[in-house]
Amino acid sequence: MSIHLTSLFISSILNNSVILPPRNFLYSCLLSVAAIISFSIAIVAWRRRKTGPAALSIALLMLASAWWGLTYAIHWSSLYSPFPMFWLNSTYLGVVIVPTAYLVFALHFTGNGKLLNRRTTSFLAIEPILTLVILWTDRLHGLFFSELQPANGSAILDGGFWFWLNIVYSYLLILIAFVLLARFAMKADRLSRKQAVLILLGSLVPWVSSVISVLDVAPLTDIDLTPFAFTITGAAFAFALFRLNLLTIVPMARDALVEVMTDGFFVADLRNRVVDINLAAQKYLGLNKASIGKNAEELFKNTPDLVALYRDVKDGQFEFFTEYYGQRHLDMRVVPLYDERKEFTGRLFIFRDITKRKTAEMEIKKANDQLKHQLSEIKTLQTELQRQAVRDPLTELYNRRYLEETLEKELSRADREGTTLCILMLDIDHFKAFNDTYGHRAGDAVLRELGKLLLQNTREGGDIACRYGGEEFVIVFTNTSLQHAGQRAEEFRTTFETMQVSVGEDQLSATASIGVAAFPVHGSTGEAVLHAADTALYQAKEAGRNRTVVLDHPQPRET
Ligand code: GH3
Ligand code: MG
Ligand code: MG
Repeated sequence: MSIHLTSLFISSILNNSVILPPRNFLYSCLLSVAAIISFSIAIVAWRRRKTGPAALSIALLMLASAWWGLTYAIHWSSLYSPFPMFWLNSTYLGVVIVPTAYLVFALHFTGNGKLLNRRTTSFLAIEPILTLVILWTDRLHGLFFSELQPANGSAILDGGFWFWLNIVYSYLLILIAFVLLARFAMKADRLSRKQAVLILLGSLVPWVSSVISVLDVAPLTDIDLTPFAFTITGAAFAFALFRLNLLTIVPMARDALVEVMTDGFFVADLRNRVVDINLAAQKYLGLNKASIGKNAEELFKNTPDLVALYRDVKDGQFEFFTEYYGQRHLDMRVVPLYDERKEFTGRLFIFRDITKRKTAEMEIKKANDQLKHQLSEIKTLQTELQRQAVRDPLTELYNRRYLEETLEKELSRADREGTTLCILMLDIDHFKAFNDTYGHRAGDAVLRELGKLLLQNTREGGDIACRYGGEEFVIVFTNTSLQHAGQRAEEFRTTFETMQVSVGEDQLSATASIGVAAFPVHGSTGEAVLHAADTALYQAKEAGRNRTVVLDHPQPRET
């Protein structure tokens, strides 16, 4: 293989003691070009190192390859060398790193990166370091080049113990890497098939180059093709990784997503410094990229409420109001961040604009309150309506309809309980004349005052005082004797008689006549008792008015 072709030069020079540096400018130039390409790929890979460790291992592979190519190019240019095999020996720094970096790449790329822990990495470093040490100290022990046969171009090459060991070791690494990559390529799904094929082709290049060298079919037998081979391999890998691979797309997509998402976020470290902030969060909080590195509390000094909310919180969810860009309601979630060792390293703050929801909620609440208000208004109106339906507007007394509705009930109760129910029928005397004399308004005033008098002197719930007709009133006394009812009637009459009603400058008064009858003595139905009371009233009128007549003789039952 080409690696030992390089060694061959060293050995031939040593053995023949002929210090005639080779000179092939064309080859030297080609090597330089390969080195530049390798170096460029190394830079590209280094720049993409965030995409994962596979990119870093390509960078290492290409850097080693560039070193190999460069030092080899200098060797072939024979321009300058501190001592005869200096540049050839120098190529070995690249020669030993290339297979190792190649394997590391294969491990990472195929998802076996976890195998590379501290122990395995140290182990992988042993052979390259030993090889370099043994190579550079060969004169002391001859482990590398001892008993080398001079090269005759196509002869089977031979080297010292370590020379072969290194070759076997290098091939072993490359073989392992190849198997890993080949297996991965076989299993690749349709999406990554192109990539897998490219990786596989790239992996084949060093083998093809070796076969060419071993079979001695290379155009220049003394020339080592390996630096070219690995440049091609590296280019193929880089292309596969960076142009075709999802590995690169995913982080880029993540970055794009973070920037376009409507949820804002920023990350603060343990000292509360803003480590990362996306566009949405900048907008929500009135910040910019320059906020990175600043203390979060400093940034939010205008919103002390917000600072107070999150300052001592590791984990939680809050809602707050901000006017940084219009009036907004934001929802803030605080998520603790832990490193691989499960140690708390900072916090992630996620902001979501909940203005729409909040506005809707507030509108619903407003509508609800309005509805409640309207409902209570309706209830008040209903009560008022119910009241108005049974009350006379002028006197505030119950109306005739109410009397008719309740009288029957009261009668059956009195019947059940065996109590007496009395009915007073009151009619103002000569009221037509009163109206005619003092006017209708004066008449109304008298009616109102009489209403007050009756209302004030009857029990709400027990007695029923109502305006029966124009200037006729009916008062029902439940559970009251006829005699007591007669006394009450007299009280009403005398009080009314002495009542002075102010109408303008006039003090007016009127009198009334009252007839009193009772259930069950004067009738068994409401109608009958009312009629009886009316009869008593008629008697009072007949007897000269302004008097009370209590019906004393039971009336014959009427139907
Ligand atoms: P008496 O009962 O003593 O026999 O004589 P009267 O003048 O009161 O007789 P009547 O019952 O015939 O007259 C009732 C009068 O009451 C007629 C009407 O002008 C008056 N009146 C009825 N309703 C109202 C009212 O709401 N306001 C006023 N101001 N007057 C009313
Ligand atoms: Mg009348
Ligand atoms: Mg009258």
